[in-house]
Amino acid sequence: MPLTDTEHRALLDWIDLSARLRKNVHAAKQTELLEQLRGLAAEHKANAERIAALEATRTAESERATALETDVAARGATIERMESRLASGEGLTSRDLVALQGDIETAKTARETVEEDQLTSLGTVEEQDAEIRDLRQEGAAIAARGKDLQAERKARAEELAAEAAELEAERAGTAEKLPADIRQRLSAKETAGQIGAAVLAHGTCGACGDELSGVARDALSGSEPGTVVECDSCETLLVTPLG
Ligand SMILES: [Zn+2]
Repeated sequence: MPLTDTEHRALLDWIDLSARLRKNVHAAKQTELLEQLRGLAAEHKANAERIAALEATRTAESERATALETDVAARGATIERMESRLASGEGLTSRDLVALQGDIETAKTARETVEEDQLTSLGTVEEQDAEIRDLRQEGAAIAARGKDLQAERKARAEELAAEAAELEAERAGTAEKLPADIRQRLSAKETAGQIGAAVLAHGTCGACGDELSGVARDALSGSEPGTVVECDSCETLLVTPLG
């Protein structure tokens, strides 16, 4: 028996609301946002690893700078001793004095080289400190973005849940207007995870896209506009749009 005009409209509404519910369920997965969050987490991890590696390098460099400083101080003490020996001149021949002067010059030149190395090392430590600071800021920015996205995700989830509840209620209302047997078939299909009903447009099933064949087409030809048929391929209930 074909549907009455009211029932036909109700079924079309039910189909439309079901499609919107399926869209809602899909949107609620928030695939894109989750992907972004995963990306951020990976970025944050890589950033933390770079900081840890750089900190290790910085510690080693700082230790090297300290060792060079100790070396410079030791060289300075030696030079001082040589200089006081030179100043006192005790037990030294003029040849010794010239030789000692030469040794002092050599020692000073060597100390300069170590001092330069120390300065370079301290400069490197400073650069690494700056780099670590930048990376920490970057890490904080990534964490803040992650927090924002989580908040966005939560808000969106609440929004979608509210929309789903509204659609469900509206759909239950339209289902009330359908004959009991149709309503039962729709709910049975949905329980089985299938599409309950779809629109038949240009002889094609709105659920699986297959063309209607034989029996169903025969049942439709020349029948009332509210006639419900079943798709031969996916068994979804099909109804034509309002003429
Ligand atoms: Zn089908």
